[in-house]
Amino acid sequence: MSIHDFERYPLTFGPSPVHPLERLTQHLGGARIWAKREDCNSGLAFGGNKTRKLEYIVPDVLAQGADTLVSIGGIQSNHTRQVAAVAAKLGLKCRLVQEKWVDWDDPVNDKVGNILLSRIMGADVRLDPSGFDIGIRSSWDEAIADVENAGGRPYGIPAGASEHHLGGLGFANWAYEVAEQEQALDVFFDTIVVCTVTGSTHAGMIAGFAALEDAGGRPRRVLGIDASATIDKTRDQVGRIARHTARLIGLGRDLRDDEITVLEGWAGDLYGIPVESTVDAIRLSGRLEGMIIDPVYEGKSMAGLVDLVTSGEVGADSNVLYAHLGGQPALNAYSGILG
Ligand code: PLP
Repeated sequence: MSIHDFERYPLTFGPSPVHPLERLTQHLGGARIWAKREDCNSGLAFGGNKTRKLEYIVPDVLAQGADTLVSIGGIQSNHTRQVAAVAAKLGLKCRLVQEKWVDWDDPVNDKVGNILLSRIMGADVRLDPSGFDIGIRSSWDEAIADVENAGGRPYGIPAGASEHHLGGLGFANWAYEVAEQEQALDVFFDTIVVCTVTGSTHAGMIAGFAALEDAGGRPRRVLGIDASATIDKTRDQVGRIARHTARLIGLGRDLRDDEITVLEGWAGDLYGIPVESTVDAIRLSGRLEGMIIDPVYEGKSMAGLVDLVTSGEVGADSNVLYAHLGGQPALNAYSGILG
């Protein structure tokens, strides 16, 4: 079995764009920095990393004959917005549990950005007071049972589509896409920088790049930057999903511990709360590149990239690929810190 044996339902425009960040590279004065843009990978409600994951989950949804997608996330979840878009596209109903993952008192937090988009797309959006946790939630189980009891045929998609047996495939395939783009661009990205929270984005990349390396490719580092602020859980989840995905795509060995790198230091104390380095990174990307990143995820991974490059931990001879995973709609709920 390889990644190419899995059915993929097209939800993206095709390969996401890869381009150099020339002014950021010049400003930091070290490694050459490029971005691969999942924030503009699809016409479905602004796309993002979950849209790629869902391409490998939708065939299972259709095979099971479900009529309602049921998912969960924080109030400003990008994931639930992308599930709502996919449900709309497929003509399915959508039930979303939006928990209070972030203690964020912006008065429009539950009215603008992602949650507004999900409502526009017709999802049945229900707020829940529970706090942040990347694991399986009872509120999600209850929502699935609720749909079933009302005579529906629910299909559950867990937070971030991560704890799903096919959740890592989208980004295992991303690795293969990168390898093809490298050929076309005549560049090799020795370092990938990616934000990680529920884990299957980073985990899928680890599995995909390991399979490419075992097939004769050059070794590279896939550095996950934690934005969960619950590092042990995220590290554990990334490792577990990476190993599972590696088995699925036919890696003939167990992953080594040194292939699973989740770095801490940029999440602050709490998921969803930007710290000074997050805000600085958002302004830097905006002012140097016109590239918009968010305060929950990408602002934190960009802060990590900036420090890794300026400290020389990622050397000046490196080509770094920054995985931009989307997330900009949440900015609307954070105007107070950026205005
Ligand atoms: N970046 C953005 C914009 C996201 O929405 C998410 C989702 O959680 C992530 C990064 C982290 O991805 P994952 O949950 O697969 O670790």
